[in-house]
Amino acid sequence: MLDIKSLHKKYPSGPVALRGVDLTVHEGDLIALIGPSGAGKSTLIRCINRLVEPSSGQILMQGTDICQLNSGALRKARKKIGMIFQEYALVERLSVMENVLSGRLGYVSFYASLTRKFPRADITEALRLLDRVGLSDYIDTRADQLSGGQRQRVGICRALLQQPDFLLIDEPTASLDPKTSREIMRLITELVQERNIAAIINIHEVTLAEMYSKRVVGLKDGQIVYDQAAGGLTNEA
Ligand code: ADP
Ligand code: ADP
Repeated sequence: MLDIKSLHKKYPSGPVALRGVDLTVHEGDLIALIGPSGAGKSTLIRCINRLVEPSSGQILMQGTDICQLNSGALRKARKKIGMIFQEYALVERLSVMENVLSGRLGYVSFYASLTRKFPRADITEALRLLDRVGLSDYIDTRADQLSGGQRQRVGICRALLQQPDFLLIDEPTASLDPKTSREIMRLITELVQERNIAAIINIHEVTLAEMYSKRVVGLKDGQIVYDQAAGGLTNEA
């Protein structure tokens, strides 16, 4: 469903972050992207929805090259590409429910979330998701009152409400303690598999990558150096 070909990224005043990445992602794939800091993991993930503009190469999503889309077509394509962030990217002043509903807009906006009337079906689905992640008692709580783990659960619900085919997940546990990290990884991986969503997770810890993904891809100096079914790596890798 996703075919990345010869992807290069050079930051204007910075380093070459990706040097010829080829990666095929199949439907329902659950990929952990590992590698040392600075390897290009975030850059690769962000190129896929063009939060970062690739320098050259192709990103074929169901045959369409994301790199070639104009802004209107890109906005449409992004509706099918959800994102979960390390720092959650919630709107602090909005409630849990409002943050989740903003997933339907494809972007997070304080004013759009307040003024837009969301369809009943979205609200029902948001409630169902919040129940699934254990946040039923927090729907009216402001985002800034939540713990890190709770915030990431909101981020997960927001991404899923968008009904993506594809999820980009950038270091979802980097700000969480080990126990919460495992809970969040378990939730994410269960939910994406239930819904047959393909996902790429940029994850620092090899142990979590091996425990929760189906396929582990290693990036180093902007190139893929490892691509195997999960279970093949030891801790020192
Ligand atoms: P990773 O996620 O594996 O830690 P990154 O993709 O964040 O790697 O970074 C790859 C390289 O690109 C690093 O050298 C980093 O400093 C650089 N880089 C990342 N983002 C930017 C940016 N916005 N501008 C310039 N250089 C960047
Ligand atoms: P992470 O460890 O999550 O990859 P970083 O601390 O590397 O995050 O980067 C934080 C932010 O700074 C990101 O938005 C990244 O794109 C940007 N960034 C990283 N390296 C550089 C750089 N060399 N020049 C400019 N921006 C950078």
